[in-house]
Amino acid sequence: TSSAGPDLLQALNPTQAQAADHFTGPALVIAGAGSGKTRTLIYRIAHLIGHYGVHPGEILAVTFTNKAAAEMRERAGHLVPGAGDLWMSTFHSAGVRILRTYGEHIGLRRGFVIYDDDDQLDIIKEVMGSIPGIGAETQPRVIRGIIDRAKSNLWTPDDLDRSREPFISGLPRDAAAEAYRRYEVRKKGQNAIDFGDLITETVRLFKEVPGVLDKVQNKAKFIHVDEYQDTNRAQYELTRLLASRDRNLLVVGDPDQSIYKFRGADIQNILDFQKDYPDAKVYMLEHNYRSSARVLEAANKLIENNTERLDKTLKPVKEAGQPVTFHRATDHRAEGDYVADWLTRLHGEGRAWSEMAILYRTNAQSRVIEESLRRVQIPARIVGGVGFYDRREIRDILAYARLALNPADDVALRRIIGRPRRGIGDTALQKLMEWARTHHTSVLTACANAAEQNILDRGAHKATEFAGLMEAMSEAADNYEPAAFLRFVMETSGYLDLLRQEGQEGQVRLENLEELVSAAEEWSQDEANVGGSIADFLDDAALLSSVDDMRTKAENKGAPEDAVTLMTLHNAKGLEFPVVFIVGVEQGLLPSKGAIAEGPSGIEEERRLFYVGITRAMERLLMTAAQNRMQFGKTNAAEDSAFLEDIEGLFDTVDPYGQPIEYRAKTWKQYRPTVPAATTAVKNTSPLTAELAYRGGEQVKHPKFGEGQVLAVAGVGERQEVTVHFASAGTKKLMVKFANLTKL
Ligand code: ATP
Ligand code: MG
Repeated sequence: TSSAGPDLLQALNPTQAQAADHFTGPALVIAGAGSGKTRTLIYRIAHLIGHYGVHPGEILAVTFTNKAAAEMRERAGHLVPGAGDLWMSTFHSAGVRILRTYGEHIGLRRGFVIYDDDDQLDIIKEVMGSIPGIGAETQPRVIRGIIDRAKSNLWTPDDLDRSREPFISGLPRDAAAEAYRRYEVRKKGQNAIDFGDLITETVRLFKEVPGVLDKVQNKAKFIHVDEYQDTNRAQYELTRLLASRDRNLLVVGDPDQSIYKFRGADIQNILDFQKDYPDAKVYMLEHNYRSSARVLEAANKLIENNTERLDKTLKPVKEAGQPVTFHRATDHRAEGDYVADWLTRLHGEGRAWSEMAILYRTNAQSRVIEESLRRVQIPARIVGGVGFYDRREIRDILAYARLALNPADDVALRRIIGRPRRGIGDTALQKLMEWARTHHTSVLTACANAAEQNILDRGAHKATEFAGLMEAMSEAADNYEPAAFLRFVMETSGYLDLLRQEGQEGQVRLENLEELVSAAEEWSQDEANVGGSIADFLDDAALLSSVDDMRTKAENKGAPEDAVTLMTLHNAKGLEFPVVFIVGVEQGLLPSKGAIAEGPSGIEEERRLFYVGITRAMERLLMTAAQNRMQFGKTNAAEDSAFLEDIEGLFDTVDPYGQPIEYRAKTWKQYRPTVPAATTAVKNTSPLTAELAYRGGEQVKHPKFGEGQVLAVAGVGERQEVTVHFASAGTKKLMVKFANLTKL
């Protein structure tokens, strides 16, 4: 790539160059997939520095993931010096940074913690019990959804109560508002904020304390937002406030790629940009540099079927290329094997594994594909799978760390006070919590006072010992590097001993904890985190999106760099790969069942998602579907996605060897909900499955947990693990070798 100089913009086409040369005032770059929006944005940043002399420390770019932010910084760094001073961030990370610096102005106490989805549920469960209109059958998740949605719209509990809907997600409006209200009080008492707060509290800070806004604006005189079509109301407002003084705001996006409505994203934000900024310059990019012409034609044709859209032109720059193909496999296993076969074949033709990606609608689809790949030893990297940071042992250790930093974190305390067991049982804990409530203090303070204040009848010293342990950890937090501190926590808490006694399963968990220490070590070595504390590490860990490297690495330990990428269509946004497989192109998966039930706007959102998937492909696009698919342990007949009809004639239907065959289209009109709930056993087509003790779906019995059903299987032979749902004990993950299961 070229260096700073007058001809920096030569690497762009004329319209891209105009947009990149945009200096002051608002601007909108609106264009289809692969048209160079992100590239233009990076060049614009470099051009601001190299040509207009803007200091990098005055430039902010907001991206959708931390990974995208890091890449953008790196790419800008190749073009101009000083990129290290750029502020590249997601909305959430920007919120954390602002609130950590200035949060005290709006009453946030120092050392607040960030609560994730699970922590939210913990508080919700606690507060929902006593609210009229909320029954025992109400799922805490529903309430969390209401709260998150309210926050993405910047609604307070009172706003929610004033809305006109009598019911919100099935709950009476006032009950929903009351749950939200109590949740806020509890959360605040624990000195915690949730993900939504990272944006809403920053907005509140800016509105209530103009002096702070002004200071932050000095670091964001030129603001950029990538993927603007997926911003929600709160992010929109944050952007508006930040840009209100200098008005140098450049946003880029594609309304056809808006795929996060379910998380509150509002496509209207990009469509109304010109209303909000009547003087905005609009740049439309009309050439697609990414995909071969055949792939692009399919994408264009598909998206034309959406009615709620802005018509755009997108012309190919590349040649026709290879035909797009569609293969219908007999079942989900055969589908996986087909993909594996093609990967092997393409690799043999010289494709690096890392040039190829497999995209699917739901994470649940990845397991069978992974198995097919593993069987023929294709290295794979799964993005956003079973979260490493969601594992019990990881969450436990991080909860200790959180509590050490923030003694008010009752959620963390409840999580770990019995891991390992310390002789503080349920009754004792209830008493401690009760005392804390009446004395308006934390449960940890109650523990510290257990003996003196006679809070517990018996075993008060156990509670004071625990408080002492946490005090030692607090002290260590100030003195140790993140990795060393985590080691200290693992050892002194007795957690390592606990796992050492747990045999094989404990061994796996020990390895995961080792991985956590390595992750912290690596984090500290990163240039951006020099001198960073454990608190900073926890912030970053809390904000990891599923595609971020720190996460992907931990989840794929041992996977080589050169590996095939497996991810959901959602996670693939903004990325590109020479070869893309989209699997499960079936009615009920893509579009999803939920979207079909929702009707036209649900279908259009899914069509955008499919559009995102197709437009990731640079050279080859291979689509597959299964005729029979196992879901939740049952195999049902599946039908091709109706979206295939949208692009009929633009792809070849092929047999297992890739040879064209006649396409037996089931058209959208002919489509009927599948009748045959007839559970047909899938023929065992793969030689390897013979080795598998379990394939999923079996009814089993466990000596302790009772009867259950196998939901998922991972690994083979000695190392096979099964996920079993037990009627009485819930879902458990077990090593087959040690679990003592009997098939029923
Ligand atoms: P998406 O909508 O998927 O986010 P995008 O509009 O952001 O796509 P980019 O990712 O910026 O598109 O660009 C797509 C590909 O085309 C990249 O590989 C990029 O380097 C290349 N590209 C874009 N513009 C040009 C150009 N003028 N010359 C050469 N390559 C280009
Ligand atoms: Mg982009």
